[in-house]
Amino acid sequence: CGIVGVIGKKDTTEILLNGLQKLEYRGYDSAGIYVNDQAGHDYLVKEKGKIAELDKAVGPEVQGTMGIGHTRWATHGEPSHDNAHPQVSASGRFYLVHNGVINNYQDLKAQYLKGVHFVSSTDTEVAVQLIAELVEDGGMDTESAFRKALSLIDGSYAFLLVDREQPDKLFVAKNKSPLLIGVGDGFNVVCSDALAMVAQTKDFVELHDGEMVVVTKDKISITDENNQPVERKPYTVNIDA
Ligand code: GLU
Repeated sequence: CGIVGVIGKKDTTEILLNGLQKLEYRGYDSAGIYVNDQAGHDYLVKEKGKIAELDKAVGPEVQGTMGIGHTRWATHGEPSHDNAHPQVSASGRFYLVHNGVINNYQDLKAQYLKGVHFVSSTDTEVAVQLIAELVEDGGMDTESAFRKALSLIDGSYAFLLVDREQPDKLFVAKNKSPLLIGVGDGFNVVCSDALAMVAQTKDFVELHDGEMVVVTKDKISITDENNQPVERKPYTVNIDA
């Protein structure tokens, strides 16, 4: 029920875990993180239960400079390790966290993903498998595939996507679920509530439904549903960390 992401920070793991803790008040039944050191190593850790359990499962080797995290409030599929997010494509290339509900996930699965091996019973896995299919079989680049998937998905979502072949980017989109970009100096963050990231920055850019964002450590590129660039100034929040 909460999302965090960071790019351009050496203490990514700590930032994600602290951020998830700040989102605990929203309620959740499982949690997970994906961390990439942008030098060929990456880590996926998921646990059913409390953030404290996830904390325990995260070994000292789990360090990186970019990553995503999630607390899940199950809507499709019981609370379990396999159903926790990040959800991963069969190829292992794409990692996705999602808040919300994909209404047409069964239709999408039947129409586009015949023969794909699913490991979870979530609606979310359909989204990440669809993006992977559009890239790996359809020959699209990741940004176009994400945009295409968004146009096919009917539902509510805050999405944060990683392509492990482009670990210098976070791909972001929302529809009827909250999501913000936090602006840093040489880093950027993503969160469903500013509270999760006020320890990192007080400057946030709001996103509108239908927009898609590519976030690097120095740049936030927002486009609207017609792929036109959107300029939006950050606002400053007045909360203490
Ligand atoms: N519908 C997704 C699931 O059940 C996401 C739930 C959430 O918002 O945490 O996995």
